[in-house]
Amino acid sequence: MSQSTATRLTVSLLLLSQIIRLHAAEVRDVRMWRAPDHTRLVFDLSAAVDYTLFSLDNPDRLVIDIDTSATSQRFNGLDFTSSPIRAIRSGERDDDTLRIVLDLETAVDPSSFTLAPNSEFGNRLVVDLYDKEPRPNAAVTAGTGNRSAPQSDGRREIVVAISAGHGGEDPGSIGYDGRLKEKNITLAISRALFNRLQSMPGYKPVMIREGDYYVELKRRPEIARRSRADLFVAIHADWYRNSRARGVTVYALSGDRADRENSARVSQKENSSDLLGGVGGDLAIGNFDDDVALTLVSLQMAWSMEQSLVAGTRILESLDGITRIRKDKVQQASLQVLNSPDIPSILVETGYLTNPEEAQRLNTRGFQQRMAAAIAQGVMNYFYETPPEGTLVAWQKANGITPGTYTVKRGDNLSEIAERFGLSLAQLKASNSLQSDTIQVGQVLSLPGAAPIPASEHTISRGETLSEIAQLYRISVPELRAANKLSNDRIMVGQILKIPSL
Ligand SMILES: [Zn+2]
Repeated sequence: MSQSTATRLTVSLLLLSQIIRLHAAEVRDVRMWRAPDHTRLVFDLSAAVDYTLFSLDNPDRLVIDIDTSATSQRFNGLDFTSSPIRAIRSGERDDDTLRIVLDLETAVDPSSFTLAPNSEFGNRLVVDLYDKEPRPNAAVTAGTGNRSAPQSDGRREIVVAISAGHGGEDPGSIGYDGRLKEKNITLAISRALFNRLQSMPGYKPVMIREGDYYVELKRRPEIARRSRADLFVAIHADWYRNSRARGVTVYALSGDRADRENSARVSQKENSSDLLGGVGGDLAIGNFDDDVALTLVSLQMAWSMEQSLVAGTRILESLDGITRIRKDKVQQASLQVLNSPDIPSILVETGYLTNPEEAQRLNTRGFQQRMAAAIAQGVMNYFYETPPEGTLVAWQKANGITPGTYTVKRGDNLSEIAERFGLSLAQLKASNSLQSDTIQVGQVLSLPGAAPIPASEHTISRGETLSEIAQLYRISVPELRAANKLSNDRIMVGQILKIPSL
């Protein structure tokens, strides 16, 4: 790193404390954009500026003081509907400072940075107002649903972004029967994965799409980034021209496409308002010179790729036994959805919809839940190995608490805890050898590995054996025999077996 690069980096870091030293300017325009979880204001400036930004409460306001600046703008052309802003006003102060005041409906978490001119725009000041609480009438695309999991006691939750492949006018693969649609399977498994992770203390899943609509591929990692995701998991189902192809494939964030995307990102500075470091901080690439930015992005990229491989491997290990594994190593492919330099990202192809047996299985609620539980387990194994700093999981690990435990808090009762984690009271008592329902504050309960999964069915295909099927559903042969009242291991093609819940 050269002397001047180092100096510029220092300047850019100063910017993080939201102070820059440059010239006088005019605020020429303001643009606003409402996202599911924040409102972005972009002030168009005639030159680079020094500014400070601070919040006031009672009533809630955000104040932006721009040094030696002026404006003839009245800021009244904006529609503040569904934003936390009530009004914007401005005034010039005695010391030549232009003060812009945002009158707010509710307090926000502000974040700000400046952008250098690009082909389309001049100098800009970007102010993001992150909602402290979900806004009632905000469009929900990255909602988190109702949190029922216990609070993390101030320790941060690990955010897992779940991207259900396809949706809306894009059905994805069509099944062997011409009817099954990938978009529905991916959404069902994604929902099950969401519920599973949500029930685990220390995890906060986020759905990239929550219904039958399409979210652009390049928007998906952006939504994850905005949610400060620690991991991005895309769920898909495969297609092949013959019906024999089968099994799960796990893909990890790949290098070549991401490298191309990174150079493009750095050269187009308007994208640079994207955050670099969805996990770590609020470094906007635009604050850095191209060479520094590209270096930072590449470093981040190398880390993300390595982490993607590890996470993918844990998920693959966890899926082994639930279903057939097509490739026993995590694959790296140039998939557009896996292109975040800053978020470890994996994609799970959960099976082939062109294979009748896999398609039927993928279409049952029981199997979808098993698949989701195994993916969740892989995710949790990965994070328990290297928990992000400041998270509940990091704290659990430091204190020797294994995932799948819950520490009793004041006011808890056993049946509530059971319900919260999708367990029956009997299961919870059994796994903790409890004779009564009495629990004490601080007592550590272990949560049985798998929530009860409803019984499902399995139609026998040519060549399958009872022990293979038992293994597939992680049950014993005697259990499988008992559930189907079989006196021996003989089974027939087309016969339907009942799969007991775990
Ligand atoms: Zn797909």
